Amino acid sequence: MEEHQVIIVGAGPSGAACAKALKEHAIDALVIEKEELPRPKICSGVLFGQTQVLLEKYFGTLPPGAVYCEPRTINASSIHEWDKEKGFLEYVWEIPKGGDSFPREYYNIWRSRFDQWLLEASGATYRESCIMQNYSSADDAIKLQVLRKDMTRIEKASKESAGQELCCTYLVGADGGNSRVRNLLDTSWAEASQVVIYQTYNRFSDPGTLQGGHWTVFFDRDIGDILCCVHRKDDFLTLCVGGFKERNLKNSMDLFKGFLSEQFKVVFSEEERVEGCVMRMAPPNLGSGNVLLAGEAAGLIYLNGEGISAAIDSGYRAGTAIARAIKEGADAAHLYKESMTDILEHCSACTQQMRFLVGQ
Ligand SMILES: Cc1cc2nc3c(=O)[nH]c(=O)nc-3n(C[C@H](O)[C@H](O)[C@H](O)COP(=O)(O)OP(=O)(O)OC[C@H]3O[C@@H](n4cnc5c(N)ncnc54)[C@H](O)[C@@H]3O)c2cc1C
Repeated sequence: MEEHQVIIVGAGPSGAACAKALKEHAIDALVIEKEELPRPKICSGVLFGQTQVLLEKYFGTLPPGAVYCEPRTINASSIHEWDKEKGFLEYVWEIPKGGDSFPREYYNIWRSRFDQWLLEASGATYRESCIMQNYSSADDAIKLQVLRKDMTRIEKASKESAGQELCCTYLVGADGGNSRVRNLLDTSWAEASQVVIYQTYNRFSDPGTLQGGHWTVFFDRDIGDILCCVHRKDDFLTLCVGGFKERNLKNSMDLFKGFLSEQFKVVFSEEERVEGCVMRMAPPNLGSGNVLLAGEAAGLIYLNGEGISAAIDSGYRAGTAIARAIKEGADAAHLYKESMTDILEHCSACTQQMRFLVGQ
C-alpha cells in the first residue's frame, strides 16, 4: 500500500499552504485533489490585504501576471453597497485583525489560475482527479479509500481497480466548505445550516450606471437571503446570489439580473458559465488526534465570506504543527490549536459583523 507521512485532501489555498510548510520541514506529504487542475472554483477572486501579506510571508511573493484579471486592482474605498434610499455607500469587506491593518488595494484574480500557481509554488507532490471517499484509523495509521474521478478515462477498468488505498500517519482535511473529512470526523457537520451560493459569468455590452469601482453589493431579501453582488472580471460581469437551502436561486439570479438592467441600465449578453456551492454554517473545528482540519473545512471564514487568507494561514499552521509534532514527538492537534487563537478570535469578530447572519 502506498504510504506517506502526511496526506492533504484538497488542493485549494489551505491544502497548498499546508504542503508548503511541510516541504520546508522536509516532511513527506501528498496532496490529493478530486478535480483535474486547474479546476474552477466559485469565488469573487479578490486577494484582500491580509491575503497579500500572508502570500509574502509564507510564499515570499505575490502571484505572477497571468493570474490577474481586469480591473487588476480594486481599492477598498471603491467597493460599494447600494441602498434604495441612500444610493452608493462604501462597503467594508476587510477589518483589522488583532490591531493589524492591511493594504487597501486589493487584487482581482482568476481563482483557477491562482490556486494552480499556489500549489506549484508550494513544491507539493500532488495527485489530481483523486477523490477521498473514506478513511479509518488504527494503531497510528490512517487508511484512505480514494477513487479516480473520471472513470471513463480508465480503459477497461472495473470500478474496483479504479479505487485504491493510501496510508498516512497524519491526515489534513483541506477539502473546503462541503468537507468529506470533516463529515467523517464531526457528526454535527451534516446537520449544520447550509447557505447555497450561485454565480454566473455574463458578457455585457454596457455596464450602465453601476459605480466605477466595479464591485457592488446589494441586500434585498426579495432577491436572496444573504448578500448579492456584481463584480467585473475581464469581459465578464460576475453575478452572485446566496440563500438558505430552500430558496430557488435560479429565480433569484433572474430577479437580480432584471433589477440590474432596470435600475442601472446594465445590458447583458450571453451567460457563459454558471457555478454553485454549499457552505455550512458550523462553528470552527480544527480536528482531533492525527486528523487536522484547515480552511473552510475547519469552518474558518472572515468578514462576508472572505476566506482565502484564513485558508492560507490555517493551512500553513496545520503543516507547521505536524512538522513540529513529528520532530518533537508532540501532539499535532494540540500544537495546532495552540497556534490558532488569533485566527479563531478574528473569525468570531467577523461573524458578529456579518449582517446577513445576525438574527439567524
Ligand atoms: C461565491 C464566493 C465568493 C468568494 N469570494 C472570495 C474572495 O473574493 N476572496 C476571498 O478571500 N475569499 C472568497 N471566498 C471564500 C474562499 O473561496 C474560500 O474560503 C477558500 O477557497 C477556502 O479555501 P480552502 O482551501 O479551505 O478550500 P477550497 O478552495 O474550497 O479547496 C478545497 C479543495 O478540495 C477539493 N476536494 C473537495 N472534496 C474532496 C475530496 N473528497 N477528495 C479530494 N479533493 C477534494 C476541492 O475540489 C477543492 O479543490 C468566496 C467564497 C464564495 C462561495
